[in-house]
Amino acid sequence: MSYRWPEDTLFTRLECNVEEQWCRTCGCKLTVCDHRHRRLFTLHGPLHVVCKLVHCPARVCPAHTRTISPEAETALAMPWWVLGWDVVCWLGHRRFACHWSVGQIRAELADTYQIRLSDDAIERYISRYQRMLAARQHDPQQLTAAYTDVEAVMLAIDGLQPEKGHETLYVVRELEGKRVWFAEALLSSATVEVEGLLVQARTWAERLGKPVRLWMSDKQEADTVGEPRILVFIVLIRNFGQERRGEDPLTEREALAPYHISEDRLFLIIYYIKYLCSKKYI
Ligand SMILES: [Zn+2]
Repeated sequence: MSYRWPEDTLFTRLECNVEEQWCRTCGCKLTVCDHRHRRLFTLHGPLHVVCKLVHCPARVCPAHTRTISPEAETALAMPWWVLGWDVVCWLGHRRFACHWSVGQIRAELADTYQIRLSDDAIERYISRYQRMLAARQHDPQQLTAAYTDVEAVMLAIDGLQPEKGHETLYVVRELEGKRVWFAEALLSSATVEVEGLLVQARTWAERLGKPVRLWMSDKQEADTVGEPRILVFIVLIRNFGQERRGEDPLTEREALAPYHISEDRLFLIIYYIKYLCSKKYI
């Protein structure tokens, strides 16, 4: 059901571009073929997201008919959602960790964030949140059917913190099928549990019989909340891009250079990459 925005809503405009520049099948430069407009609530105000969709312009390429959306889109909100991840995370935390009623949540969203939703809408998002945490939203057969045409999966893990000092909601999304696979609320220092999520995602991929093409996260701010492991995935994405273009992979240092990370954190991240590789998590 689409949300009816009041006419005088002031949106912040955000453009999302596809990170990949080259066709995975033929190596052609991808071109913009369409735009998708989405309007979302975030805790920082209404957002008008313009997604630039791309495709391979070569008519003879088997990938020509495939439209690619920016990865950043589902990092903001899943398809058909009117709430950004930050609002969903906030709402789930209020409901399940603080035991607020739907009425309380509705009032607080309206008063503090000017987000006006019906009880029904709030309940729908609460149940989505609950299903993500229960990781029951897909029975294996249904998931297998949904992934029949997908040759490899691309996974993203993001840590969302509803409020400073609280547990972090880790969400594992699959980008090809645009699905949330599962989520877990963890204390941000819980390294072992985050690794548990990586293992679980890998198990799911194996069960589907699909290779994991890459793991990623665009949460650079994760670094500021003490999660260097998230930056590992930035290295992976960049290396994956290089490899696909037939270039030599970057060193970890080169891949992380644009993020201006201090030497000791850099050391930690590189150490962590090697550790994950040794455990065959990546
Ligand atoms: Zn192509």
